[in-house]
Amino acid sequence: MLKCFSCPKIYDENTPRYKCDCGGFLYHEFERTPRLEPKELANRSQWWWRYREALPLHRDENIVTLNERPTSLRSVRLGGEQVQVKLDGECPTGSFKDRGSFLMVSKLKEWGLKDIIEDSSGNAGASIAAYSQVAGIRAKIFAPAYTSPAKLRNIAQYGAQLVTIEGSREDTAQAALNEAERTFYASHNWSPYFAAGVKTLAYELWEQLGFKAPDAVIVPVGGGSSLLGLYYGFMELAHTGRIDKLPRLIAVQSSACAPLYQAFVAGSTEVTEVTKSSTIAEGIVIAKPVKGSAMLKALRDTTGTCLTVSDEEVLTALTELTSQGVLVEPTSGVGAAGFIKAVATGAVSSGERVVIELTGIKKG
Ligand SMILES: *Cc1c(COP(=O)(O)O)cnc(C)c1O
Ligand SMILES: [Zn+2]
Repeated sequence: MLKCFSCPKIYDENTPRYKCDCGGFLYHEFERTPRLEPKELANRSQWWWRYREALPLHRDENIVTLNERPTSLRSVRLGGEQVQVKLDGECPTGSFKDRGSFLMVSKLKEWGLKDIIEDSSGNAGASIAAYSQVAGIRAKIFAPAYTSPAKLRNIAQYGAQLVTIEGSREDTAQAALNEAERTFYASHNWSPYFAAGVKTLAYELWEQLGFKAPDAVIVPVGGGSSLLGLYYGFMELAHTGRIDKLPRLIAVQSSACAPLYQAFVAGSTEVTEVTKSSTIAEGIVIAKPVKGSAMLKALRDTTGTCLTVSDEEVLTALTELTSQGVLVEPTSGVGAAGFIKAVATGAVSSGERVVIELTGIKKG
């Protein structure tokens, strides 16, 4: 079922909808929490649908796939410490956004939708374009005109209709919303299914770490789908006794645009809009994230924290990663820089099992 975060309303999953009638955002919850059996998983093929019980889709025939496989977990040195990095740039279209799209677009197909719109600063647009094309769904993607040319090219190459909007990221979202009165708004920032798909990140880490949770996971955060996907996935694993304790979720934002950080340190339960400046971390420049209140809850429930990093710190971390053969986009460098800061400030300590989510490969 779909539940509203702001009011008691509950919706069934058979009718297309992306938000509550009250204007609040929705999240997916199972009537009974799925319990995955390690022994059974060993016999399943390696694609993401191996976690089928945890993926809310009624019928298998609606599965839309680009042959997803687990991404590598490897060890690197950052700031003099050894740490594990999750290379989600290995996802089919080059970013973790595929973890959200593969389920969301399957659900759009299940709903029988033929036309959708979406707005994105790049990677989500490319990912949803690719999955929609395979599903036979026409996607119209709005992106800010300042988006890097390589990302814009990808969106069109995957067969979507691309519309570039002058102005801010918020202007792009507004342009999509205006059009959403006529076409279904398949927004990765709103969709409960997108966040539910990103649960595969938690399940995959649990499996790759020998059916254990790490002590902490560090992620760069904009709209929050990776943070919330990790939270929902690890919560399900904890509820069913698959892990003893939740990993601390550590969100990292760019100091140029840090609404979650501001709200977290203020002890607030809501995220309010901030004024932002420019940054190389273009994938997380969201001045007012839709699901801010859920993100704050995820940080507090897991005794996690939120940090900010400067572009200079991001560049230092990127140089360290590149020297070890790991080429990621600047936005992913935010997580790596966040790890270095987390060690320096004591948010993580040596000897803890920490994973940094490297969200996307360098494009262009
Ligand atoms: C989208 C994106 C992020 C941020 O993810 P959110 O779900 O918006 O928090 C981080 N890194 C990359 C490469 C992205 O594409
Ligand atoms: Zn509501």
